Amino acid sequence: VLILAIESSCDETAAAVIKNGRTVLSNVISSQIDLHKLYGGVVPEIASRKHIEKINQVIEEALKEAEVTLDDLDAIGVTYGPGLVGALLVGVAEAKAISFAKDIPLVGVHHIEGHISANYIENPDLEPPFLCLVVSGGHTHLVVVKDYGEFEILGRTRDDAAGEAFDKVARAIGLGYPGGPKIDRLSKEGNPYAMNFPKAKVEDAPYDFSFSGVKSAVLNHINKCKMQGIPVVEADVAASFQRCVVEVLVEHAIAAAKDYHIDKLAIAGGVASNQTLRTAMKQACEKNQIQFYHPSPIFCTDNAAMIGVAAYYEYLKGTRHGWDLNAVPNLKLGER
Ligand code: ATP
Ligand code: MG
Ligand code: FE
Repeated sequence: VLILAIESSCDETAAAVIKNGRTVLSNVISSQIDLHKLYGGVVPEIASRKHIEKINQVIEEALKEAEVTLDDLDAIGVTYGPGLVGALLVGVAEAKAISFAKDIPLVGVHHIEGHISANYIENPDLEPPFLCLVVSGGHTHLVVVKDYGEFEILGRTRDDAAGEAFDKVARAIGLGYPGGPKIDRLSKEGNPYAMNFPKAKVEDAPYDFSFSGVKSAVLNHINKCKMQGIPVVEADVAASFQRCVVEVLVEHAIAAAKDYHIDKLAIAGGVASNQTLRTAMKQACEKNQIQFYHPSPIFCTDNAAMIGVAAYYEYLKGTRHGWDLNAVPNLKLGER
């Protein structure tokens, strides 16, 4: 089964060709980061316009790299939510056009189901059920993947997503957008124990997260330094903030795995490419006899290969969308 997948939910225009669900024949990503970093974040209008400019070229490249043509495809997968409505619409319209022109099934995919499915690419032995920690720019979910496309959300963030917290703290210490990778890098030069930022627990919800407290504590620390004329040691702030976030993520994920007697734990989303998180989670899993899975960094941040994998399992289950498929900016995980 050959699937062409399209992803355009945020600021990456991406297309990929996936063979039999888990083999990536091509994975083309055109990032708009350089455009948006001028504004310190993603500007929706600019994102949509750039997707329109790039999408045909990205698809052509993906087909060429995979050495296939549109006539070889069995289905077309596309992210239809959640994300920026104008950005999503570009991918959805394109996918509908190809599906109509080539008379092949259209399979709409949930973006986060895509992130989770990235784990299948390099782990041929991984099958549900397993626990997955989703940490991306807009989501922080602790999810039981009960079967392909079937999820039970055990916990979620009450305020900022993990990636959002990285981006906001990075901006506060002057690192620019996107902040996650920059904090990851700068932290290597800092002392993670220089500061003790608060690790918020949500009462009566052991698997929920809250990152607004640590974010405020970082901002307070910076303001205090400025008022007292003390220089801010950016690397120490970055490393201490990162330690705080990583500790909470690892603690909650391991606790859930133990409570639910799940011995397989995966991570997904842009923050899953964080070096400190990967190392800490690996160690904690080893200590607790849990099998640890993670995608390569290129499959953690937004890409179309992960959408193709998710589309394949949806395709097998018989998921088909019609010409009325629309972008759903706030699509919930597990909804169809
Ligand atoms: P969502 O998937 O929730 O819709 P998104 O698609 O914008 O949001 P992703 O592309 O999955 O998010 O991830 C981007 C986020 O990951 C950004 O917040 C970015 O700062 C963060 N990120 C990327 N690399 C790293 C890293 N090495 N360490 C920490 N955070 C990172
Ligand atoms: Mg992005
Ligand atoms: Fe994403």
